[in-house]
Amino acid sequence: MRKPIRGSCLCGGVRFEVDPPFLQANHCHCDRCRKHSGTAVCTQTRVLKEQFRLVHGEELIKVYGRGEGAVKAFCTNCGSSLFGGDWPDGPQVSIRMGAFDDDPGIRPQFHTFVDSRAPWDTITDDLPQYSERRT
Ligand SMILES: [Zn+2]
Ligand SMILES: [Zn+2]
Repeated sequence: MRKPIRGSCLCGGVRFEVDPPFLQANHCHCDRCRKHSGTAVCTQTRVLKEQFRLVHGEELIKVYGRGEGAVKAFCTNCGSSLFGGDWPDGPQVSIRMGAFDDDPGIRPQFHTFVDSRAPWDTITDDLPQYSERRT
């Protein structure tokens, strides 16, 4: 079995591990991801819930935006964006790839919500682009 992929927030209060393989990875350019990340995109990947373990810091995680689409789960101490999707519910866990301490192996495969991107956000790769969510 491969070693678990480790991840953490900026302050280290939240730590987690994931068993590969990952299901998918993408750059989301929607206005919510942009505001939450403070930059052009949230780059995120997904695994099945059974492949994810929260090792430390559950009490530090705050969930923003329930009922408004994909949630934004972040560390209340350092502000790191950590999880999205339906956190902490649902069959899959959506993880911000910037939180990984190890190479997760998977690479971003497509762009979503490109019609919502910032005027200064220029896509320079050849990955598939979707105007909103992937269809
Ligand atoms: Zn933190
Ligand atoms: Zn988004």
